[in-house]
Amino acid sequence: MGRLAVVAIGGNSITKADERGTIPEQFENTRETCRHIVQMIARGYDVVVTHGNGPQVGNILLRAEMSSAVLPTLPLDTCGADSQGGMGYMIQQVLGNELRKIGVDRCVTTVVTQTVVDPNDPAFDNPSKPIGPFYTSDEAERKVSDEGWKVIEDAHRGWRRVVPSPMPTRIVEADAIKTLLDTGCIVIGVGGGGIPVVEKNGQLEGVEAVIDKDHASRLIANHIGAELFVMSTDVEQIALHYGTPDEVRLSRLTLEEALSYHAEGHFPPGSMGPKVLASVEFLRGGGEAAIITNPESIEKALDGETGTRITR
Ligand code: ADP
Ligand code: MG
Repeated sequence: MGRLAVVAIGGNSITKADERGTIPEQFENTRETCRHIVQMIARGYDVVVTHGNGPQVGNILLRAEMSSAVLPTLPLDTCGADSQGGMGYMIQQVLGNELRKIGVDRCVTTVVTQTVVDPNDPAFDNPSKPIGPFYTSDEAERKVSDEGWKVIEDAHRGWRRVVPSPMPTRIVEADAIKTLLDTGCIVIGVGGGGIPVVEKNGQLEGVEAVIDKDHASRLIANHIGAELFVMSTDVEQIALHYGTPDEVRLSRLTLEEALSYHAEGHFPPGSMGPKVLASVEFLRGGGEAAIITNPESIEKALDGETGTRITR
């Protein structure tokens, strides 16, 4: 076995803000990221690749909504499963192709993954994550009365459905992922943070929620005993006073420093906050280092030349 690493790919680096998000665009962005993951593998890492799915699952939901006159709509957990299949297919094909270009023939496979959440998680009483299309207030009212949706007015652009974002507690297919790793496979899993499910009397049931992929990725990272957790996103390093004239980029951070900067409000919820907190939990769970950087900087970040490295 090589050294174990989890690489979490941001959904926003696969469908970029300035692109339409066509499938060829998504494949090209994925190829760019996979070239760097292949370099990690060439350096001896065995890798589990996880990914976000924000833009992609939103599109699947919108497609289902727009065809609801002719086809039954899809619950959000099913949309998440569809995104794991489509994105997993793309990543496993591209990663396999890039590996063969450097003469490596490895098994690369995707695991459709469920993530258990606590039905009593306070997030269920406070749905906060806006998803899918915008509606007029009349349409939104109908969704509330007919389908029991929660809606909010989003930045005066219209009404949107909001769903809970509960904390992940367990990755159902964690042992399957570990077994595949042990047989030499490179595994893609926990897509979109996993399909949210609750446990009732030993039975699993999908729920309409969105799990944070960074928190879910750190769970699988600790489960497999990974030493390294890389979050590949669209910034090269994390910063204090991000986006202001006082911005200071951070190269190395201890767990305590990360927590105190977090408490000072440098890392907002929904973007950098979960990455920093997931790094802290990863280290507490036995991991050696977490790295936050962009895809093109992965190798340099491994060498300590850029990126942000958080250690105990
Ligand atoms: P991903 O899809 O990769 O999870 P997110 O949008 O959730 O990406 O998180 C990355 C974003 O976090 C960056 O694009 C940046 O705009 C934002 N961000 C917020 N605070 C910071 C910070 N302190 N340092 C760096 N980036 C930050
Ligand atoms: Mg994110």
